[in-house]
Amino acid sequence: MSANQYRAYAIRYGHRDNVPAHEAFHRPHAAPAGGMDYFVWLITDGQTNIVVDTGFGEAEGTRRGRQFLRSPERGLAELGVDAARVEHVVLSHFHYDHIGGTALFPNATFYVQEQEMRFYTGAGGSLPVIRESIHVPELLALLELNYAGRVKFVDGDAEIVPGVSVHKASGHTPGMQFVSLDTSRGRAVLTSDASHYYANMEEANVFNTFVDLVGVLRGHQRIRETASSPDLILPGHDPLVLQRLTRVADGIVEL
Ligand SMILES: [Zn+2]
Repeated sequence: MSANQYRAYAIRYGHRDNVPAHEAFHRPHAAPAGGMDYFVWLITDGQTNIVVDTGFGEAEGTRRGRQFLRSPERGLAELGVDAARVEHVVLSHFHYDHIGGTALFPNATFYVQEQEMRFYTGAGGSLPVIRESIHVPELLALLELNYAGRVKFVDGDAEIVPGVSVHKASGHTPGMQFVSLDTSRGRAVLTSDASHYYANMEEANVFNTFVDLVGVLRGHQRIRETASSPDLILPGHDPLVLQRLTRVADGIVEL
C-alpha cells in the first residue's frame, strides 16, 4: 500500500434528461434511465488538490440543451476547496463538457495528452463529426494557456503527483486519458469518458462517440487492470454514481 492516500469526490454540475439509447450505446440497449449527469472530480489528501476536468461553460451547455446546475467552482467550495488556488488540473480530453471551465483555475497547470492537442488543433478539426463535440473558444483558451507555459504534455502514462497518475486510453478521442489514485482501499480509477456509464464497461457496449472502437474496449481492459477492485471504478457520466457512492452534500459523493 502506498503512503499516499487520497479521497475522490464526484461533483455534479450539469444534467441532461432523455439520452436516447443510440447515443449512449454502440449496440442495441435500453436508454439510460436517469439520462446523463455531468461531473468534475476532486482528488485530495487534504493538502494537495487535483481537479479532473472543468465542465462545460453555462452558455455552451445551454445552447446544447444541457442543464447547468451550478458552476464547478461552487461544488469545489462546498468541499472547502478554492478553485483559484488549485495547482493541478487534469483534462481527460478536449470535448466541450470537459475543458469549458479552465478560467476557473487561474493558478493551475493543466495536464493533457500530446496527441489530443495535436489532433484537435490539426487534422481532426476539419472533420464535421469531430467538430460537433468541440467548442472552439475553449480550444483557443487552451492554446493561450499553453503559450503561457501552463500546459504540461503527457505522452502515455505519467504520475502527476505521488500517488496520482494519468493513463492514455485512445478511443473515445485520440488522446483520451483516465486518472488513477491511491486510496485507503487501494487503487481507484476515474474513467471520465473512457466509460460514460457503468454499463458501457460491464457490457462491453461502448458509448456511441468514438474515434477507435477497439481502443475504447482496450481502455476498459486497462481500467480494470489498474483499479484494485471493480467498485473503485468511477464512470464519467452515469447518474448511478450519485446512488452508489457516499453522499456528502447535494450532488456531491465520495468514493
Ligand atoms: Zn463528456
